[in-house]
Amino acid sequence: MKLSKQLFVTLREAPSDAEVASHALMLRAGFLQQIAAGIYVYGPMLWRVLQRIEGIVRDEHDKADCQELLMPAIQPRELWDESGRWERYVNDGILFHFKERKGGEVCLGPTHEEVITNFVKGQVQSYKQLPVTLYQIQTKFRDEIRPRFGLMRGREFIMKDAYSFDVSEEAMVESYKVMRQVYRNIFSRCGLRFTPVEADSGAIGGSGSEEFMVDADTGEDAIAVCRATDYAANLEKAVSRIPAPAACDEVVAMHKEPTPGATTCAALLELFPDLPMTRLLKTVLYHVVYDVEALAARDGVDASEVRAEGVIAVMCRGDRELNEVKLANHVNALKLELASEDEVKAATGAEVGYAGPIGLADDVRLYADESVNGVEGFLCGGNETDTHYLDVHFGRDLDQPETADFGTVQAGDLVVEAGTGDVPADAAIEITRGIEVGHIFQLGTKYSEAMSASFLDVDQKQKPIWMGCYGIGVSRVAASAIEQNHDEAGMIWPLEIAPYAALIVQMKVGDEAQDALCQKLHDDLTAAGVDVLWDERKKVRPGAKFKDADLVGIPLRIVVGRDAAEDKVEWSPRAGGDEAKEVLTSGDAMERVVAACREAGRI
Ligand code: ATP
Ligand code: MG
Repeated sequence: MKLSKQLFVTLREAPSDAEVASHALMLRAGFLQQIAAGIYVYGPMLWRVLQRIEGIVRDEHDKADCQELLMPAIQPRELWDESGRWERYVNDGILFHFKERKGGEVCLGPTHEEVITNFVKGQVQSYKQLPVTLYQIQTKFRDEIRPRFGLMRGREFIMKDAYSFDVSEEAMVESYKVMRQVYRNIFSRCGLRFTPVEADSGAIGGSGSEEFMVDADTGEDAIAVCRATDYAANLEKAVSRIPAPAACDEVVAMHKEPTPGATTCAALLELFPDLPMTRLLKTVLYHVVYDVEALAARDGVDASEVRAEGVIAVMCRGDRELNEVKLANHVNALKLELASEDEVKAATGAEVGYAGPIGLADDVRLYADESVNGVEGFLCGGNETDTHYLDVHFGRDLDQPETADFGTVQAGDLVVEAGTGDVPADAAIEITRGIEVGHIFQLGTKYSEAMSASFLDVDQKQKPIWMGCYGIGVSRVAASAIEQNHDEAGMIWPLEIAPYAALIVQMKVGDEAQDALCQKLHDDLTAAGVDVLWDERKKVRPGAKFKDADLVGIPLRIVVGRDAAEDKVEWSPRAGGDEAKEVLTSGDAMERVVAACREAGRI
């Protein structure tokens, strides 16, 4: 492919709103053009990368006997009413939805559980047809609150979504295990360094869920990892053993303390310098919108009897932080956010900052994180402005509230198994960051039951189909690859997914020996199946060609210059820097390209 025949525009500077390297470099190299927040044109170079990634995704799915299909982007509201998700997605604001000419409502698919369940319901009757796993690669639409970082969080993006269908829970787990391996293969082949982590499976329930995190400081997700035990979990889900609280040596009666203006732990510690942080219990108030259907089903009552919204109070040790995902799951919340100032005043009778467990309004349910276990003689809010209680004891001064794990794991916490079996006593957790490129999930029968997708089993009984779902952010994979592989000068593509495998940089176009050698290299490489780009632009100086080459990051490079007459070229791979440069005969250079492409599965 001759570069002069292509639309190829590069910029020296990235637009100032590009906050991460992948976004900035893609804009500079003409890979992307934004037409609205989170909505982009994928330029020709980027499209080649995306097709490479899609090729790997297809190959690995097909090898595992998955079948590709294509579902519509437009989905009718009726299907979403069957699964009960329409209201929730509309309330979250994530759904692009609109009215049709004839008055019906439709959305642009943010995901396809409803459509696929409906499809399989119409196709599968018998256990003899199962298991099957179906997948598609398609554009998804989500009206994200904060679209940002280019392809990382778009409002329109490419996803591969797969769905497995099985006769039983055990069979579903088997399908899930196959997909776990498929995902490992895909991300390895894409040249990514990644960590599979335990993930939150949300209010949907389901026993297993794993996310695939590309290791990157710019990642939006925090991950808890322990090198000694290979434990890795999304911080939303991670569990740990926390340090014990300081003991309380002197037991005295509970009493009120004036604490004017002290609304933070730091301010309280200034007033009570001898009090350890672990004996200070904070109480946080949240406004909760409940999942009424789920609560009604859990308690076996009618949905009309369940409270739809309310305020809850949650206690937690002063040195720990609450985890709103765990909390929302525990209380079956559709939405959970800090209570407003007015709600705090109504619940506590005080200004914000003095909430405590004693004397809360009757309709405020109290919970506590496990970190309060064993804490004695503590300080807590007095539910009165400028006042706290000191020397409070559960059991003596108030009942211990309903307690569960609502805590956020912190660096230095021990893994749960520390000191047991072969696990060292000091097996501690680190917090790192990652980009979620994939998510696999055991769905169970949530959708098949809601949408009556059943099959006739061997025992002649109709049973709901067991499902799993599996997503990969194809466009996010491209951005993540750059996040992990770039330098000041530009992108450095892993060979497997690079837009072209090889680049020939011709120093002087019109020089007879160079023209002839470049043409031969180009033709021979093409004949060998290598996709090669030849920079034969006449009016562009060598310096600018090298800059462009560094920016676009095609991994294998051959520079053809003065020594062309002696059949000599410079081998100059993008990743190696000056040290990797070598003078080779054109034949040797060609052999290296072919060998590298074979190893990377490109030819
Ligand atoms: P996130 O937590 O990042 O919002 P999610 O958990 O909502 O993602 P899933 O529903 O699990 O996403 O979608 C499967 C995959 O699609 C994700 O693992 C991610 O790689 C990708 N993805 C999700 N949202 C976006 C987006 N807005 N832009 C690009 N890729 C996305
Ligand atoms: Mg996810």
